[in-house]
Amino acid sequence: SPAPARPCSDAGGQKETEVPSGATAVLRHLLLKLRATGPVTVAEYMREALTNPGQGYYTRRGGIGESGDFVTSPEISQVFGELIGIWYISEWIATGKPKAFQLVELGPGRGSLTDDILRVFSQLASILSKCDVSVHLVEVSPKLSEMQALMLTGGKVQPNPEDEPAYMKGISKTGIPISWYRDIQDVPTGYSFYLAHEFFDALPIHKFQRTEKGWREVLVDTDPQVPDQLRFVLSPSSTPATENFIQPEETRDHVEVCPEAGVIIQRLACRIEKDGGAALVADYGHDGTKTDTFRGFRNHQLHDVLKAPGTADLTADVDFSYLRKMVQGRTATLGPIKQQEFLKNMGIDLRLQVLLQNSSDAATREQLLHSYDMLMNPKKMGDRFNFFALLPHHRLPDPDKKQKPKSKSPLPPVAGFGELLLK
Ligand code: SAH
Repeated sequence: SPAPARPCSDAGGQKETEVPSGATAVLRHLLLKLRATGPVTVAEYMREALTNPGQGYYTRRGGIGESGDFVTSPEISQVFGELIGIWYISEWIATGKPKAFQLVELGPGRGSLTDDILRVFSQLASILSKCDVSVHLVEVSPKLSEMQALMLTGGKVQPNPEDEPAYMKGISKTGIPISWYRDIQDVPTGYSFYLAHEFFDALPIHKFQRTEKGWREVLVDTDPQVPDQLRFVLSPSSTPATENFIQPEETRDHVEVCPEAGVIIQRLACRIEKDGGAALVADYGHDGTKTDTFRGFRNHQLHDVLKAPGTADLTADVDFSYLRKMVQGRTATLGPIKQQEFLKNMGIDLRLQVLLQNSSDAATREQLLHSYDMLMNPKKMGDRFNFFALLPHHRLPDPDKKQKPKSKSPLPPVAGFGELLLK
């Protein structure tokens, strides 16, 4: 467990030349900062490592996919995105087919998920024919937005003038306008379907530890024993974050809080409350029970979070109980339910059967079965990933009122979290 922080950091005296040349750019930057101003929060460390504008992991690499550092469900199988596309269409139908909707994805990675969703929209064009669909991507990484542009538009994009909320625009291969933003606040309001797949787990967390003297925040500092290495320390007294984020009734000894996730889910809830639509959040996580989940991945291997920052993906489990709390009753919430349950309810078995029947070569069939197993097997992604949704209150039956037996149009169940009506 972390050692106590030095009472004050020995700033000055150390020169830039003492920073080893083998250190990553983010580490060099951090070592100078730590020496000058003392330890930083884990959140600040994580933000530097992942999204530092010059050298962050996502800014420069974002190694998603088989050749990268981690693989996500949309990269494993096209079926994943297709079923999510069907989820949105089913919600659109259930709310009376509004004239227009925006699909808003947070952290789209390589763009595969939106690509699969847009393919479904295009296949179901007869249903959507009178609906004005647009896509809005929230992405901070220039490198990944480039990959998304290539995947979704074939590279046909234009940078937007600086004073416009979107930084880039293009048209999808299926003819749908796409805009890119750095912040959810820049996305136009209106009836929208939001999507966050493996997004919230990449946002910076604060870490806290219970001690005999009360709660202390875990910080990142240099290691006086080993010159160019980082280590965890405990704040000598409580920090503003300790005061704000630890509940008096907390029973765990170690807690992780992601305030940025709280702010973003609140924004989504406000938008859905006001303009309608829905949000689907899929991620690994827990319901306020886990403690120490902060970890790194590099080349598909666990990686020491404090080593070579900027070269590995850093992540922490999403605390769905915290997200639910931050929604503050503005919308209804469903889940979290396990990925295997959600995909089963969405009809993954039937979709697999159709794809197997349509493919004649053994290698493709093998691949289909393998990816199905990755997504559904409880020991793989089936139980580790969860689905969580925000919906306007009027979309769900009032739990206090008994559904009137002869009510004219009973509300259809929400797909994925119940049975699928759209066949
Ligand atoms: N959803 C994709 C990618 C997950 S990786 C998939 O499942 O394959 C996380 C994504 O979030 C990356 O695209 C990363 O660049 C982006 N990201 C991380 N922090 C962000 C932030 N603060 N704002 C917007 N995007 C962010």
